Amino acid sequence: MSQATMELMDFDEAMARFDPVLGLEVHVELSTATKMFCGCPTTFGAEPNTQVCPVCLGLPGALPALNRMGVESAMRIGLALHCEVAEWCRFARKNYFYPDMPKNFQTSQYDEPICSDGWIDVDYDTPEGRRTFRVGIERAHMEEDTGKNVHLGGATGRIHGADYSLVDYNRAGIPLIEIVTKPIEGAGRYAPEVARAYVSALRDLLRALEVSDVRMEQGSLRCDVNVSLRPSADAPFGTRSETKNVNSLRSVERSVRYEIGRQAALLAGGGRVVQETRHWHEDTGLTTSGRSKEEAEDYRYFPEPDLVPIAPSREWVEALRATLPENPAARRNRLAAAWGIGELEMSTVVNAGALDLVEATIAAGADQAAARKWWTGELARVARERGVELRDLAITPAQVAEVEALVQAGTVNDKLARQVIEGVLAGEGGPGEVVAARGLAVVSDDGPLLAAIDDALAAQPDVAEKIRGGKVQAAGAIVGAVMKATRGQADAARVRELIFQRLGVEA
Ligand code: ADP
Ligand code: MG
Ligand code: ZN
Repeated sequence: MSQATMELMDFDEAMARFDPVLGLEVHVELSTATKMFCGCPTTFGAEPNTQVCPVCLGLPGALPALNRMGVESAMRIGLALHCEVAEWCRFARKNYFYPDMPKNFQTSQYDEPICSDGWIDVDYDTPEGRRTFRVGIERAHMEEDTGKNVHLGGATGRIHGADYSLVDYNRAGIPLIEIVTKPIEGAGRYAPEVARAYVSALRDLLRALEVSDVRMEQGSLRCDVNVSLRPSADAPFGTRSETKNVNSLRSVERSVRYEIGRQAALLAGGGRVVQETRHWHEDTGLTTSGRSKEEAEDYRYFPEPDLVPIAPSREWVEALRATLPENPAARRNRLAAAWGIGELEMSTVVNAGALDLVEATIAAGADQAAARKWWTGELARVARERGVELRDLAITPAQVAEVEALVQAGTVNDKLARQVIEGVLAGEGGPGEVVAARGLAVVSDDGPLLAAIDDALAAQPDVAEKIRGGKVQAAGAIVGAVMKATRGQADAARVRELIFQRLGVEA
Protein backbone atom coordinates (compact mmCIF):
# COMPACT_ATOMS: atom_id res chain seq x y z
CA MET A 1 0.00 0.00 0.00
CA SER A 2 1.47 3.37 -0.96
CA GLN A 3 1.94 5.95 1.76
CA ALA A 4 -0.29 8.51 0.11
CA THR A 5 -3.28 6.17 0.13
CA MET A 6 -2.59 4.90 3.65
CA GLU A 7 -5.88 4.29 5.32
CA LEU A 8 -6.71 6.49 8.30
CA MET A 9 -9.26 5.75 10.96
CA ASP A 10 -11.59 8.62 11.75
CA PHE A 11 -10.27 10.41 14.83
CA ASP A 12 -13.38 9.98 17.00
CA GLU A 13 -13.58 6.29 16.21
CA ALA A 14 -9.86 5.88 16.97
CA MET A 15 -10.37 7.57 20.33
CA ALA A 16 -13.29 5.29 21.13
CA ARG A 17 -11.10 2.23 20.53
CA PHE A 18 -7.61 3.27 21.64
CA ASP A 19 -5.76 5.31 24.26
CA PRO A 20 -2.85 7.44 22.95
CA VAL A 21 0.53 7.84 24.64
CA LEU A 22 2.93 10.57 23.51
CA GLY A 23 6.56 11.46 24.01
CA LEU A 24 8.06 14.74 22.84
CA GLU A 25 11.75 15.34 22.24
CA VAL A 26 12.64 18.98 21.69
CA HIS A 27 16.05 20.14 20.51
CA VAL A 28 16.75 23.78 21.18
CA GLU A 29 19.71 25.62 19.77
CA LEU A 30 21.17 27.96 22.36
CA SER A 31 21.86 31.55 21.36
CA THR A 32 25.34 31.62 22.88
CA ALA A 33 27.81 33.82 21.00
CA THR A 34 30.20 30.91 20.50
CA LYS A 35 29.96 27.14 19.98
CA MET A 36 29.78 24.54 22.76
CA PHE A 37 33.38 23.32 22.64
CA CYS A 38 35.29 26.01 20.72
CA GLY A 39 35.33 29.77 20.20
CA CYS A 40 33.75 29.80 16.73
CA PRO A 41 30.88 32.28 16.28
CA THR A 42 27.32 30.98 15.87
CA THR A 43 25.82 33.69 13.63
CA PHE A 44 23.01 32.31 11.45
CA GLY A 45 23.32 32.59 7.68
CA ALA A 46 27.09 33.15 7.35
CA GLU A 47 28.96 31.99 4.22
CA PRO A 48 29.36 28.19 4.38
CA ASN A 49 32.40 26.89 6.28
CA THR A 50 33.55 30.30 7.49
CA GLN A 51 32.71 29.63 11.16
CA VAL A 52 34.87 26.59 11.75
CA CYS A 53 38.11 25.65 13.47
CA PRO A 54 40.15 22.47 14.15
CA VAL A 55 37.90 21.59 17.14
CA CYS A 56 34.53 21.72 15.40
CA LEU A 57 36.03 20.19 12.25
CA GLY A 58 37.31 17.28 14.35
CA LEU A 59 40.91 17.61 13.20
CA PRO A 60 43.34 15.23 14.89
CA GLY A 61 44.75 16.50 18.17
CA ALA A 62 42.25 19.36 18.60
CA LEU A 63 40.96 19.61 22.18
CA PRO A 64 37.52 20.90 23.19
CA ALA A 65 36.93 23.51 25.91
CA LEU A 66 33.49 23.77 27.48
CA ASN A 67 31.30 26.88 26.99
CA ARG A 68 30.31 28.08 30.47
CA MET A 69 27.31 29.97 29.11
CA GLY A 70 26.06 26.76 27.48
CA VAL A 71 26.22 24.90 30.78
CA GLU A 72 24.49 27.72 32.63
CA SER A 73 21.71 27.85 30.02
CA ALA A 74 21.19 24.09 30.37
CA MET A 75 20.92 24.42 34.14
CA ARG A 76 18.54 27.41 33.94
CA ILE A 77 16.32 25.50 31.51
CA GLY A 78 16.30 22.49 33.84
CA LEU A 79 15.53 24.62 36.88
CA ALA A 80 12.68 26.39 35.08
CA LEU A 81 11.30 22.90 34.31
CA HIS A 82 11.49 21.95 38.01
CA CYS A 83 14.26 19.42 37.34
CA GLU A 84 17.01 18.17 39.61
CA VAL A 85 20.46 19.41 38.61
CA ALA A 86 23.03 16.61 38.77
CA GLU A 87 25.77 16.97 41.38
CA TRP A 88 28.16 15.36 38.93
CA CYS A 89 27.82 14.41 35.30
CA ARG A 90 29.82 13.83 32.16
CA PHE A 91 29.64 14.15 28.42
CA ALA A 92 29.57 11.01 26.33
CA ARG A 93 30.57 10.19 22.77
CA LYS A 94 27.76 8.96 20.58
CA ASN A 95 29.61 7.20 17.79
CA TYR A 96 28.31 7.04 14.26
CA PHE A 97 29.39 8.07 10.80
CA TYR A 98 27.60 10.71 8.80
CA PRO A 99 29.14 13.31 6.49
CA ASP A 100 27.67 16.25 8.41
CA MET A 101 29.53 15.13 11.54
CA PRO A 102 33.27 15.51 11.00
CA LYS A 103 34.37 13.94 14.30
CA ASN A 104 32.49 10.69 13.60
CA PHE A 105 30.94 11.06 17.02
CA GLN A 106 28.58 13.56 18.58
CA THR A 107 29.55 14.94 21.96
CA SER A 108 26.36 14.42 23.93
CA GLN A 109 25.19 13.18 27.31
CA TYR A 110 23.96 9.65 27.82
CA ASP A 111 23.17 8.13 31.20
CA GLU A 112 24.31 11.21 33.14
CA PRO A 113 22.16 14.12 31.95
CA ILE A 114 22.76 17.46 33.64
CA CYS A 115 19.04 17.87 34.49
CA SER A 116 16.35 15.27 35.12
CA ASP A 117 12.93 14.57 36.57
CA GLY A 118 10.90 17.77 36.22
CA TRP A 119 7.54 18.97 34.96
CA ILE A 120 5.74 21.85 33.28
CA ASP A 121 2.05 22.79 33.39
CA VAL A 122 0.55 23.58 30.01
CA ASP A 123 -2.78 25.22 29.19
CA TYR A 124 -4.91 24.06 26.27
CA ASP A 125 -8.37 24.95 25.02
CA THR A 126 -11.28 22.53 24.75
CA PRO A 127 -14.93 23.17 23.82
CA GLU A 128 -15.60 22.86 27.56
CA GLY A 129 -13.09 25.60 28.39
CA ARG A 130 -9.44 26.02 29.20
CA ARG A 131 -7.64 23.16 30.94
CA THR A 132 -4.21 22.54 32.42
CA PHE A 133 -2.14 19.39 31.88
CA ARG A 134 1.06 18.55 33.75
CA VAL A 135 3.75 17.16 31.43
CA GLY A 136 6.56 15.26 33.14
CA ILE A 137 10.14 15.95 32.03
CA GLU A 138 12.45 12.95 31.84
CA ARG A 139 15.68 14.81 31.17
CA ALA A 140 17.32 17.88 29.69
CA HIS A 141 20.83 17.26 28.47
CA MET A 142 23.59 19.05 26.58
CA GLU A 143 24.89 18.12 23.16
CA GLU A 144 26.15 19.70 19.97
CA ASP A 145 24.52 20.27 16.62
CA THR A 146 25.78 18.68 13.41
CA GLY A 147 26.72 20.43 10.18
CA LYS A 148 24.30 20.64 7.30
CA ASN A 149 24.24 18.63 4.06
CA VAL A 150 23.05 20.52 1.02
CA HIS A 151 21.91 18.40 -1.93
CA LEU A 152 22.19 20.17 -5.27
CA GLY A 153 21.28 19.61 -8.88
CA GLY A 154 17.94 17.91 -8.19
CA ALA A 155 14.46 19.39 -8.20
CA THR A 156 13.58 18.77 -4.56
CA GLY A 157 16.71 19.60 -2.58
CA ARG A 158 16.62 16.05 -1.22
CA ILE A 159 19.39 13.54 -1.63
CA HIS A 160 17.37 11.41 -4.07
CA GLY A 161 17.79 12.83 -7.53
CA ALA A 162 20.56 15.22 -6.55
CA ASP A 163 23.71 15.44 -8.69
CA TYR A 164 26.04 16.20 -5.83
CA SER A 165 26.06 17.23 -2.17
CA LEU A 166 27.97 19.84 -0.21
CA VAL A 167 28.55 20.06 3.52
CA ASP A 168 28.46 23.27 5.57
CA TYR A 169 30.08 22.83 9.00
CA ASN A 170 29.11 26.26 10.38
CA ARG A 171 26.41 24.63 12.49
CA ALA A 172 28.65 21.80 13.73
CA GLY A 173 29.26 22.32 17.44
CA ILE A 174 26.48 24.84 18.13
CA PRO A 175 25.13 24.07 21.60
CA LEU A 176 21.90 22.12 21.76
CA ILE A 177 19.77 21.19 24.70
CA GLU A 178 17.58 18.13 24.24
CA ILE A 179 14.49 18.13 26.42
CA VAL A 180 12.67 14.79 26.62
CA THR A 181 9.26 14.28 28.22
CA LYS A 182 8.19 11.31 30.25
CA PRO A 183 5.48 9.32 28.46
CA ILE A 184 2.44 11.62 28.28
CA GLU A 185 -0.56 9.55 29.36
CA GLY A 186 -4.12 10.55 30.14
CA ALA A 187 -4.55 13.29 27.54
CA GLY A 188 -7.06 11.07 25.69
CA ARG A 189 -8.77 12.78 22.79
CA TYR A 190 -6.93 16.01 23.58
CA ALA A 191 -3.52 14.43 22.95
CA PRO A 192 -2.96 16.54 19.78
CA GLU A 193 -3.85 19.77 21.63
CA VAL A 194 -1.72 18.85 24.66
CA ALA A 195 1.27 18.13 22.39
CA ARG A 196 0.95 21.51 20.75
CA ALA A 197 0.35 23.30 24.06
CA TYR A 198 3.48 21.68 25.50
CA VAL A 199 5.74 22.83 22.69
CA SER A 200 4.15 26.27 22.80
CA ALA A 201 4.61 26.59 26.58
CA LEU A 202 8.17 25.30 26.33
CA ARG A 203 8.92 27.82 23.59
CA ASP A 204 7.52 30.68 25.70
CA LEU A 205 9.61 29.51 28.65
CA LEU A 206 12.81 29.32 26.59
CA ARG A 207 12.11 32.76 25.18
CA ALA A 208 11.55 34.18 28.66
CA LEU A 209 14.83 32.60 29.79
CA GLU A 210 16.52 34.35 26.84
CA VAL A 211 18.55 31.23 26.06
CA SER A 212 17.45 30.78 22.45
CA ASP A 213 15.66 32.64 19.71
CA VAL A 214 13.34 29.59 19.46
CA ARG A 215 12.51 30.01 15.77
CA MET A 216 10.91 26.76 14.68
CA GLU A 217 11.00 27.75 11.01
CA GLN A 218 14.77 28.36 11.16
CA GLY A 219 15.33 25.15 13.06
CA SER A 220 16.50 26.65 16.34
CA LEU A 221 13.67 24.69 17.99
CA ARG A 222 12.97 21.24 16.53
CA CYS A 223 10.51 18.68 17.74
CA ASP A 224 10.35 14.88 17.37
CA VAL A 225 6.92 13.46 18.12
CA ASN A 226 6.52 9.92 19.51
CA VAL A 227 3.05 8.38 19.38
CA SER A 228 1.70 4.99 20.35
CA LEU A 229 -1.73 3.52 20.92
CA ARG A 230 -2.94 0.90 23.37
CA PRO A 231 -6.37 -0.69 23.71
CA SER A 232 -7.11 0.98 27.04
CA ALA A 233 -5.56 3.27 29.62
CA ASP A 234 -4.55 0.35 31.86
CA ALA A 235 -2.86 -1.67 29.11
CA PRO A 236 0.92 -1.68 28.62
CA PHE A 237 2.31 0.89 26.17
CA GLY A 238 2.02 0.04 22.49
CA THR A 239 4.85 0.32 19.96
CA ARG A 240 5.66 3.93 19.11
CA SER A 241 6.56 5.73 15.95
CA GLU A 242 8.83 8.78 16.09
CA THR A 243 8.06 11.59 13.65
CA LYS A 244 11.19 13.71 13.14
CA ASN A 245 11.70 17.45 12.82
CA VAL A 246 8.16 18.74 13.04
CA ASN A 247 8.76 22.42 12.51
CA SER A 248 5.68 24.37 13.54
CA LEU A 249 3.20 24.27 16.41
CA ARG A 250 0.39 23.49 14.02
CA SER A 251 2.35 20.57 12.58
CA VAL A 252 2.94 19.13 16.06
CA GLU A 253 -0.81 18.94 16.55
CA ARG A 254 -1.49 17.67 13.02
CA SER A 255 1.23 15.01 13.11
CA VAL A 256 -0.13 13.54 16.36
CA ARG A 257 -3.63 13.45 14.90
CA TYR A 258 -2.32 11.82 11.72
CA GLU A 259 -0.32 9.16 13.54
CA ILE A 260 -3.30 8.31 15.74
CA GLY A 261 -5.44 7.81 12.64
CA ARG A 262 -2.76 5.77 10.86
CA GLN A 263 -1.88 3.50 13.77
CA ALA A 264 -5.53 2.96 14.70
CA ALA A 265 -6.32 1.79 11.17
CA LEU A 266 -3.30 -0.52 11.20
CA LEU A 267 -4.09 -2.06 14.59
CA ALA A 268 -7.81 -2.41 13.92
CA GLY A 269 -6.97 -4.20 10.67
CA GLY A 270 -4.93 -6.77 12.58
CA GLY A 271 -1.59 -5.21 11.65
CA ARG A 272 1.16 -4.03 13.93
CA VAL A 273 2.94 -0.71 14.34
CA VAL A 274 6.59 -0.83 13.34
CA GLN A 275 9.00 0.98 15.61
CA GLU A 276 10.55 3.48 13.22
CA THR A 277 11.27 7.11 12.59
CA ARG A 278 8.86 8.83 10.22
CA HIS A 279 9.11 12.01 8.19
CA TRP A 280 6.52 14.74 8.48
CA HIS A 281 5.39 16.34 5.22
CA GLU A 282 4.17 19.85 5.83
CA ASP A 283 2.54 20.17 2.39
CA THR A 284 0.42 17.01 2.44
CA GLY A 285 -0.03 16.75 6.22
CA LEU A 286 1.08 13.12 6.38
CA THR A 287 4.03 11.12 7.65
CA THR A 288 6.05 8.58 5.68
CA SER A 289 8.24 5.76 6.84
CA GLY A 290 11.89 6.53 7.60
CA ARG A 291 14.48 4.48 9.42
CA SER A 292 13.50 1.32 11.27
CA LYS A 293 14.29 1.28 14.96
CA GLU A 294 13.29 -2.36 15.47
CA GLU A 295 16.91 -3.21 16.02
CA ALA A 296 18.42 -0.70 18.37
CA GLU A 297 21.45 1.00 16.88
CA ASP A 298 24.61 0.61 18.84
CA TYR A 299 26.19 4.00 19.26
CA ARG A 300 28.94 2.63 21.50
CA TYR A 301 28.50 5.46 23.95
CA PHE A 302 31.44 6.03 26.25
CA PRO A 303 32.44 8.89 28.56
CA GLU A 304 34.13 11.76 26.72
CA PRO A 305 37.80 11.62 27.75
CA ASP A 306 38.73 15.13 26.58
CA LEU A 307 36.31 17.00 28.86
CA VAL A 308 36.36 17.07 32.64
CA PRO A 309 33.20 16.05 34.50
CA ILE A 310 30.82 18.84 35.50
CA ALA A 311 30.09 19.14 39.22
CA PRO A 312 28.02 22.30 39.70
CA SER A 313 28.23 23.57 43.28
CA ARG A 314 24.89 24.01 45.03
CA GLU A 315 25.71 27.73 45.40
CA TRP A 316 26.04 28.01 41.64
CA VAL A 317 22.73 26.20 41.14
CA GLU A 318 20.96 28.48 43.63
CA ALA A 319 22.50 31.60 42.05
CA LEU A 320 21.09 30.45 38.70
CA ARG A 321 17.70 29.66 40.23
CA ALA A 322 17.58 33.28 41.42
CA THR A 323 17.87 34.46 37.80
CA LEU A 324 14.74 32.62 36.62
CA PRO A 325 12.08 34.89 35.12
CA GLU A 326 8.46 34.89 36.23
CA ASN A 327 6.70 31.87 34.76
CA PRO A 328 5.45 33.02 31.32
CA ALA A 329 1.97 31.56 31.73
CA ALA A 330 1.53 33.26 35.12
CA ARG A 331 2.85 36.53 33.72
CA ARG A 332 0.52 36.30 30.76
CA ASN A 333 -2.50 35.82 33.00
CA ARG A 334 -1.41 38.63 35.32
CA LEU A 335 -0.96 41.12 32.47
CA ALA A 336 -4.15 40.08 30.66
CA ALA A 337 -6.09 40.79 33.84
CA ALA A 338 -4.32 44.11 34.42
CA TRP A 339 -4.99 45.25 30.85
CA GLY A 340 -8.52 43.87 30.79
CA ILE A 341 -8.01 41.77 27.66
CA GLY A 342 -8.88 38.19 26.73
CA GLU A 343 -6.80 35.16 25.81
CA LEU A 344 -7.09 35.80 22.08
CA GLU A 345 -5.76 39.38 22.27
CA MET A 346 -3.01 38.19 24.59
CA SER A 347 -1.98 35.47 22.13
CA THR A 348 -1.64 38.07 19.40
CA VAL A 349 0.76 40.06 21.57
CA VAL A 350 2.77 37.01 22.71
CA ASN A 351 2.98 35.46 19.25
CA ALA A 352 4.25 38.74 17.83
CA GLY A 353 7.04 38.61 20.43
CA ALA A 354 5.72 41.94 21.70
CA LEU A 355 4.91 41.26 25.35
CA ASP A 356 7.93 43.02 26.88
CA LEU A 357 7.63 45.89 24.41
CA VAL A 358 3.92 46.43 25.02
CA GLU A 359 4.45 46.30 28.76
CA ALA A 360 7.26 48.89 28.55
CA THR A 361 5.19 51.13 26.26
CA ILE A 362 2.35 51.12 28.77
CA ALA A 363 4.82 51.88 31.55
CA ALA A 364 5.96 54.87 29.46
CA GLY A 365 2.43 56.26 29.56
CA ALA A 366 0.55 54.79 26.60
CA ASP A 367 -2.90 53.31 26.89
CA GLN A 368 -2.86 49.45 26.68
CA ALA A 369 -4.97 49.27 23.52
CA ALA A 370 -2.77 51.80 21.74
CA ALA A 371 0.44 50.09 22.87
CA ARG A 372 -0.84 46.75 21.56
CA LYS A 373 -2.06 48.33 18.35
CA TRP A 374 1.28 49.89 17.41
CA TRP A 375 3.44 46.87 18.22
CA THR A 376 1.23 44.16 16.72
CA GLY A 377 0.11 46.34 13.80
CA GLU A 378 2.37 48.84 12.07
CA LEU A 379 5.61 47.82 13.80
CA ALA A 380 5.02 44.08 13.35
CA ARG A 381 4.39 44.77 9.66
CA VAL A 382 7.68 46.64 9.31
CA ALA A 383 9.57 43.93 11.23
CA ARG A 384 8.12 41.22 8.98
CA GLU A 385 9.00 43.20 5.89
CA ARG A 386 12.59 43.57 7.04
CA GLY A 387 12.83 40.03 8.40
CA VAL A 388 13.89 41.17 11.87
CA GLU A 389 12.57 40.77 15.40
CA LEU A 390 10.34 43.50 16.81
CA ARG A 391 12.81 44.27 19.56
CA ASP A 392 15.55 44.86 16.98
CA LEU A 393 13.66 47.73 15.36
CA ALA A 394 15.31 51.11 15.97
CA ILE A 395 12.44 52.47 18.05
CA THR A 396 12.05 52.29 21.82
CA PRO A 397 8.86 51.67 23.80
CA ALA A 398 9.21 55.23 25.18
CA GLN A 399 9.25 56.57 21.61
CA VAL A 400 6.15 54.56 20.69
CA ALA A 401 4.44 56.02 23.77
CA GLU A 402 5.49 59.48 22.57
CA VAL A 403 4.01 58.86 19.12
CA GLU A 404 0.75 57.83 20.77
CA ALA A 405 0.84 60.96 22.96
CA LEU A 406 1.13 63.06 19.77
CA VAL A 407 -1.95 61.28 18.38
CA GLN A 408 -3.87 61.86 21.60
CA ALA A 409 -2.93 65.56 21.59
CA GLY A 410 -4.21 65.85 18.02
CA THR A 411 -0.77 66.92 16.78
CA VAL A 412 -0.76 64.05 14.28
CA ASN A 413 -3.43 61.71 12.99
CA ASP A 414 -2.96 57.96 12.50
CA LYS A 415 -1.60 58.29 9.02
CA LEU A 416 0.93 60.95 10.03
CA ALA A 417 1.86 58.89 13.08
CA ARG A 418 2.95 56.10 10.74
CA GLN A 419 5.18 58.58 8.94
CA VAL A 420 6.61 59.68 12.29
CA ILE A 421 7.41 56.05 13.09
CA GLU A 422 9.01 55.65 9.67
CA GLY A 423 11.20 58.68 10.42
CA VAL A 424 12.22 57.36 13.84
CA LEU A 425 13.10 53.97 12.32
CA ALA A 426 15.14 55.75 9.64
CA GLY A 427 17.23 57.39 12.35
CA GLU A 428 15.87 60.90 11.91
CA GLY A 429 15.56 61.39 15.67
CA GLY A 430 12.78 61.09 18.24
CA PRO A 431 9.09 61.51 17.34
CA GLY A 432 9.07 65.24 18.19
CA GLU A 433 12.11 65.86 16.03
CA VAL A 434 10.65 63.91 13.10
CA VAL A 435 7.39 65.89 13.29
CA ALA A 436 9.37 69.16 13.23
CA ALA A 437 11.91 68.12 10.58
CA ARG A 438 9.36 66.58 8.20
CA GLY A 439 6.69 69.19 8.96
CA LEU A 440 4.19 66.45 9.79
CA ALA A 441 1.90 68.16 12.29
CA VAL A 442 -1.80 68.24 11.46
CA VAL A 443 -2.79 71.58 9.98
CA SER A 444 -5.13 72.90 12.66
CA ASP A 445 -5.11 76.48 11.49
CA ASP A 446 -8.34 77.10 9.49
CA GLY A 447 -6.62 79.58 7.10
CA PRO A 448 -4.71 77.11 4.90
CA LEU A 449 -7.59 74.62 5.14
CA LEU A 450 -10.11 77.17 3.85
CA ALA A 451 -7.80 78.07 0.98
CA ALA A 452 -7.52 74.39 0.02
CA ILE A 453 -11.31 73.94 0.36
CA ASP A 454 -11.99 76.91 -1.90
CA ASP A 455 -9.59 75.51 -4.50
CA ALA A 456 -11.25 72.10 -4.35
CA LEU A 457 -14.79 73.54 -4.61
CA ALA A 458 -13.73 75.68 -7.56
CA ALA A 459 -12.20 72.67 -9.29
CA GLN A 460 -15.32 70.53 -8.78
CA PRO A 461 -18.31 72.91 -9.13
CA ASP A 462 -20.69 70.01 -9.78
CA VAL A 463 -19.80 68.46 -6.44
CA ALA A 464 -20.24 71.83 -4.71
CA GLU A 465 -23.69 72.05 -6.28
CA LYS A 466 -24.69 68.60 -5.01
CA ILE A 467 -23.63 69.48 -1.45
CA ARG A 468 -25.58 72.73 -1.58
CA GLY A 469 -28.56 70.68 -2.73
CA GLY A 470 -28.33 68.59 0.47
CA LYS A 471 -26.23 65.61 -0.71
CA VAL A 472 -23.85 65.69 2.23
CA GLN A 473 -22.13 62.42 1.24
CA ALA A 474 -20.73 64.24 -1.78
CA ALA A 475 -18.49 66.20 0.63
CA GLY A 476 -16.18 63.16 0.72
CA ALA A 477 -14.73 64.09 -2.66
CA ILE A 478 -13.83 67.57 -1.41
CA VAL A 479 -12.37 66.22 1.85
CA GLY A 480 -10.25 63.86 -0.26
CA ALA A 481 -8.99 66.70 -2.43
CA VAL A 482 -8.09 68.78 0.64
CA MET A 483 -6.25 65.86 2.26
CA LYS A 484 -4.30 65.42 -0.94
CA ALA A 485 -3.47 69.11 -1.17
CA THR A 486 -2.25 69.12 2.46
CA ARG A 487 -0.35 65.84 2.06
CA GLY A 488 -2.56 64.15 4.62
CA GLN A 489 -1.94 66.75 7.25
CA ALA A 490 -5.47 68.08 7.59
CA ASP A 491 -7.85 67.07 10.35
CA ALA A 492 -10.56 65.42 8.22
CA ALA A 493 -13.40 66.11 10.65
CA ARG A 494 -12.55 69.80 10.76
CA VAL A 495 -12.36 69.92 6.95
CA ARG A 496 -15.90 68.54 6.70
CA GLU A 497 -17.20 71.16 9.13
CA LEU A 498 -15.52 73.93 7.19
CA ILE A 499 -16.91 72.69 3.83
CA PHE A 500 -20.48 72.81 5.14
CA GLN A 501 -19.88 76.22 6.74
CA ARG A 502 -18.47 77.52 3.45
CA LEU A 503 -21.48 76.33 1.50
CA GLY A 504 -23.99 77.36 4.13
CA VAL A 505 -25.33 73.82 4.55
CA GLU A 506 -26.54 72.24 7.80
CA ALA A 507 -24.63 68.95 8.09
P1 ADP B 1 14.89 7.67 21.34
O1 ADP B 1 16.32 7.44 21.69
O2 ADP B 1 14.28 6.56 20.58
O3 ADP B 1 14.68 9.00 20.72
P2 ADP B 1 14.06 8.75 23.85
O4 ADP B 1 14.02 8.05 25.16
O5 ADP B 1 15.09 9.81 23.64
O6 ADP B 1 14.13 7.64 22.73
O7 ADP B 1 12.65 9.44 23.60
C1 ADP B 1 11.49 8.70 23.49
C2 ADP B 1 10.31 9.58 23.85
O8 ADP B 1 9.12 8.83 23.66
C3 ADP B 1 10.30 10.01 25.28
O9 ADP B 1 9.64 11.23 25.37
C4 ADP B 1 9.48 8.90 25.96
O10 ADP B 1 8.84 9.36 27.12
C5 ADP B 1 8.46 8.59 24.90
N1 ADP B 1 8.00 7.20 24.87
C6 ADP B 1 8.64 6.11 25.31
N2 ADP B 1 7.89 5.01 25.06
C7 ADP B 1 6.77 5.43 24.44
C8 ADP B 1 5.62 4.77 23.92
N3 ADP B 1 5.47 3.46 23.96
N4 ADP B 1 4.65 5.54 23.36
C9 ADP B 1 4.79 6.86 23.28
N5 ADP B 1 5.84 7.53 23.74
C10 ADP B 1 6.83 6.84 24.32
MG1 MG C 1 15.90 10.73 21.58
ZN1 ZN D 1 35.17 25.76 16.03
